Amino acid sequence: MKNKRRIFIQNTGIIAATAAFSPNVLLSATRASKEKLGIALVGLGYYSTDLLAPALKLTSNCELRGIVTGSPEKIPAWKTKYGIKDKNIYDYKNFDSIANNPDIDVVYVVLPPSMHAEYTIRAAKAGKHVWCEKPMAPSVADCEAMIKACKDNMVKLAIGYRCQHDPNIQAYMKVGKERPFGKAKMISSAAGYFDGRSDHWKQSKKLGGGAMGDMGVYALQGARLATREEPISVLAQASTTRPKIYHEVEETMMFQLEFPSGALAACHTSFGINMNHLHITYEKGWLKMEPHSSYNGNKGSMSDGTLINFSIQNQQAKQMDEDALAIFNKTDLIVPGEEGLRDITVLEAIYKSAAQNCAVKL
Ligand code: NAD
Repeated sequence: MKNKRRIFIQNTGIIAATAAFSPNVLLSATRASKEKLGIALVGLGYYSTDLLAPALKLTSNCELRGIVTGSPEKIPAWKTKYGIKDKNIYDYKNFDSIANNPDIDVVYVVLPPSMHAEYTIRAAKAGKHVWCEKPMAPSVADCEAMIKACKDNMVKLAIGYRCQHDPNIQAYMKVGKERPFGKAKMISSAAGYFDGRSDHWKQSKKLGGGAMGDMGVYALQGARLATREEPISVLAQASTTRPKIYHEVEETMMFQLEFPSGALAACHTSFGINMNHLHITYEKGWLKMEPHSSYNGNKGSMSDGTLINFSIQNQQAKQMDEDALAIFNKTDLIVPGEEGLRDITVLEAIYKSAAQNCAVKL
């Protein structure tokens, strides 16, 4: 049955998906390799090793040229796998000398969150563009200092919110903007997984751990991007079922948000529960996404029968190619530092609310 509001069709072609949402990417197809941006990854843990470095191989506009690591034993494998030159390998002490290295255009900070501000600011002072993983930093003050350092040094700062580069997520953002079903009234979003580790930075307050910054930002983004508004009030509750592991930071955070339009959101995040969904109830319909914040396979449906099911080759490759194009073309980033700051502003209020056991106005 034909439906005028069938604006997003099931789509399995990367060209069609990117053409619909990011025509600039198509320009990159002919970019010569010498025009690629040189990327240096800072921190060679899980995300750099398993996701970002393999994704960089799939990009058109980027090339993995450098690494910054405090673990020299990791270097040989990275040299072999990615052909990293000795002169492009740094440790945390000599990192600032990256300023003199023309091979490196972008420093991608993939460290525990408490280290994001220091390495972003050092990279900016070295004159390098910065891509920084989420959560941007543990505090608003850190985020503001990161934004200022990048502005002062005339470099771009992108936050690694890969989902905002995913056409499936862009689909519900578009519904929030164009309002085919009227205003969003109630949102339910959840992002969590079971983390079996007991001695990781995710369980350390000093290193910026806690479910809220790690996974809660996806639930928060779901509500913010669905309404295209910023919350004016939050009410939050932190809890744990494993107090021996989660005694410094929360294992689970439940938080309610109120938006200026009157829309409400009930959001959940956890290191103890697998969950990954977004439900939006509008004045005249609904939209559901499940999964909502995965690396691939995010998909959903709407009350008028529209399916959201775009296929992309690699989410992180798309993110980095689009961020590279913004640098090449001197255009706006899809997720600039200011967007990371918006989340951390709400995150601070959520922690305050949980600690004081009362609603906090923003
Ligand atoms: P990880 O623990 O696997 O890696 C962290 C890296 O930092 C390691 O190489 C470690 O050696 C290094 N490090 C340096 N100083 C450290 C210290 N004092 N304590 C602990 N580690 C130290 O973590 P990860 O999962 O790779 O996460 C890194 C960043 O990437 C975080 O900000 C995380 O939120 C983000 N991340 C983002 C996504 C995403 O989907 N965008 C997914 C996973 C992780």
